[in-house]
Amino acid sequence: MKFDKSKALFLEAQKHIPGGVNSPVRAFKNIDGNPIFFQSANGPYLTDADGNKFIDYIGSWGPMILGHSNPIILEAIKAQLELGTSYGAPTAIETDLAALIKSQYKLDKLRMVNSGTEATMSCIRLARGATKKDKIIKFTGCYHGHVDSLLVKAGSGVSTFGLPDSPGVPASLAKHTASLEYNNISEVQDFMQSHGDSVAAIIVEPIAGNMGYIPGNEEFLLFLRSTCNQYGSVLIFDEVMSGFRVALGGAQQLYGITPDLTAFGKVIGGGLPVGAFGGKASLMNMLAPDGPIYQAGTLSGNPLAMAAGGALIRELIAQDPFSLLQTRANQLLAGMAEIFNLKDIPFVYGASGGMFGFFLAEKMPNNFNDVLETNSDLFKRIYLACLEEGIYFAPSKFEAGFISTTHEDEIIFKTLEKVESGLRRI
Ligand SMILES: *Cc1c(COP(=O)(O)O)cnc(C)c1O
Repeated sequence: MKFDKSKALFLEAQKHIPGGVNSPVRAFKNIDGNPIFFQSANGPYLTDADGNKFIDYIGSWGPMILGHSNPIILEAIKAQLELGTSYGAPTAIETDLAALIKSQYKLDKLRMVNSGTEATMSCIRLARGATKKDKIIKFTGCYHGHVDSLLVKAGSGVSTFGLPDSPGVPASLAKHTASLEYNNISEVQDFMQSHGDSVAAIIVEPIAGNMGYIPGNEEFLLFLRSTCNQYGSVLIFDEVMSGFRVALGGAQQLYGITPDLTAFGKVIGGGLPVGAFGGKASLMNMLAPDGPIYQAGTLSGNPLAMAAGGALIRELIAQDPFSLLQTRANQLLAGMAEIFNLKDIPFVYGASGGMFGFFLAEKMPNNFNDVLETNSDLFKRIYLACLEEGIYFAPSKFEAGFISTTHEDEIIFKTLEKVESGLRRI
């Protein structure tokens, strides 16, 4: 495959945009590659600036669950386009999308924002404002957007507060965030025993997708629910990725656990920039203008985004494609396992609805450290070989995969053929 135009576009982009990209993972630094610049997309396919066609397993990191350029979503956007693109004032379609989301999640009220980052940031502020406490517990390897308080990994021990992950986050702020090990009940138990009275919130990806795909253990998530109840802390499920991706009702439906607040993003915007957060009325009513906790957005509830999101969610509710998506993902992954095993390459995998992951390891990782131990060099070589064959997986072992309803049997079959011929070349 030739990538001449992508390479030229990347050089040009770097003159004007830091690193040539508007979100770091797109730079392909993890796999020493050159980012591909895209031009169009349809169904399961992406077409780049050089005219190369790829089978896409990123789906814009989740939203393309019905495939790219789905006609129903395009029509909804076009219809709204004729009526104007933004009013900076209330519209009926915001209420419509909120009600659609509420029909699948146990929450009373929702507020729309413009990204997942805004959603988690607002959840944290609301939790702190409501509890009048400052400390936050997160889990190492969980990503919640680039919120200052949440850009914190592990301290050196259970009782050590985190140091900031990024320059620009004051240590005086990061010290309020503890990053504990995912799926580790006793770390949370110990921490809550000594600091529980000052913990405003525990935030977690109930099915993690930002250290590769790692589902939370049921007992772990149940423990988070009960310890939050005990100490009066707010349990926040970050379902920006898993919401309407693993099931209509997200991970909370699969586990049967109701958090106090839920953050949404990705799928609910149908491919346009959207986030939302919601929960019990007693918490949500504390937001301005009814309550004192401030939160706002010029383009929040943008009509185009609401129209796209509404059309997608309505269609998802009508189709409920999640078990079909999971079957297809498992078909792909079982096929890959067979191919890898023939080459004596260890391969483990999992899938929930339309979200999946695989690791070059003997057994499924349970936390971030387990993922660190999986083979990065081999991942890189396999990734680039598959890319060369026209398969667009996420360019990092720390990312999940996504499948759409347009990934029909023949697409899966074609993918496996290409993976096999890619592997032959490494
Ligand atoms: C993508 C993601 C975010 C951030 O959303 P943005 O729209 O990129 O700001 C937050 N949490 C999780 C779990 C995500 O996957």
